[in-house]
Amino acid sequence: MNFNPANNIQDLQYFGEFGGVNPSISDSSTYTFLSAKTMFDTFEGNADGCYLYSRHSSPSNLYLGEALAAMEGTETANVSASGMGAITSVLLQLCGSKDHIVSSRTIYGGTYAFLKNFMPRFNIKTSFVDFTDLVSVEAAITKKTKVLYCESVSNPLLEVTDITKLASIAKKHRLKLVVDNTFSPLSISPARLGANIVIHSLTKFINGSSDTVGGVVCGTREFINSLRNVNNGASMLLGSTMDSLRSASILKNLRTLHVRMQQHSKNALFLAEKFENDGLKTVYPGLKSHPSHELFKSMMNSQYGFGGMLTIDVGSLENANELMELMQNRNLGYLAVSLGFYKTLFSASSSSTSSEIPENEQKEMGLSDGLIRFSIGLDADIERTYQLMRNCMEAIHILKKT
Ligand SMILES: *Cc1c(COP(=O)(O)O)cnc(C)c1O
Repeated sequence: MNFNPANNIQDLQYFGEFGGVNPSISDSSTYTFLSAKTMFDTFEGNADGCYLYSRHSSPSNLYLGEALAAMEGTETANVSASGMGAITSVLLQLCGSKDHIVSSRTIYGGTYAFLKNFMPRFNIKTSFVDFTDLVSVEAAITKKTKVLYCESVSNPLLEVTDITKLASIAKKHRLKLVVDNTFSPLSISPARLGANIVIHSLTKFINGSSDTVGGVVCGTREFINSLRNVNNGASMLLGSTMDSLRSASILKNLRTLHVRMQQHSKNALFLAEKFENDGLKTVYPGLKSHPSHELFKSMMNSQYGFGGMLTIDVGSLENANELMELMQNRNLGYLAVSLGFYKTLFSASSSSTSSEIPENEQKEMGLSDGLIRFSIGLDADIERTYQLMRNCMEAIHILKKT
């Protein structure tokens, strides 16, 4: 594949109003029209290049959206105030009363709660299935199904979905394949593999500085325009609009994403290999022991690695809590949810980010109490980090002293 998402970002040129090297920030919620006719045409969606009102679109949001569309190789994109703002508006745009969704059972806790608890209010039902088993995905499709929904690398179990094969199932049944690519920006390009719509929480790796939430929907011009439609567009009408100042700052961070992803991936692979070698139950798509290692390799833009997320299982929630508190005390990272920060972040998934999923369902999908999810940071000296983490594990008897 000669698609390189980082080149597409690098090649963008947006100048500011006075020749600035960064685009000017549009610090306005509303825009003047020279003629009343143009205002009418803009409402009707017939005046390209005119801005109306910033909930609909703004120059700063369009710059960021176009950069993310370039990254994913889609026609265009629409940014939103959060990842959930992107996910909920996509699903409500695609589905109406009595429609059905087939979703992966290992997805972000907020998405799971939305599909399981909120969408039934609108008579929209979801079947949750194991997306690594394509036979069960296809078996769950009914006449009412409109959407296949999954994450390219799932949270928190790091299962990898075969996007190419799912895309052909979606095509065969005339469904939209929607992929949340938050865990693997640059590494995997779902739209290039056949996904119809790609979503990110910009809050994580893409922004990378844990200072804001944000989201994006990447897709065809037709779909993105439908989201923004003043009469029936979910983004326009539900109103989770990103602020222009924020989109300007996320655009600046996006330019270093390739360098950061390479370092996150390098550090995560180093630690995963060490932890596995130490006898810890370690899950990382870059390990040969990962059931989807070869699948990930076949889909990836290889220079960005297998990403910054790994999990270890330390046997019990007590062990997990003790280890995380000790690592935090020794300044190896923070006991915090979220991902993509320069510091390592860790949390016990079953009692935090996946606590929306009932205990019996957690068990069934292999989510154990002792599972710690790590978002590995940009540590300059990962060997030092490993030694210090190992000391913590020895101190609480998860590993024997060597
Ligand atoms: C964080 C996250 C979301 C939600 O994004 P917000 O920006 O917090 O609304 C959705 N999907 C995945 C995979 C995430 O990690």
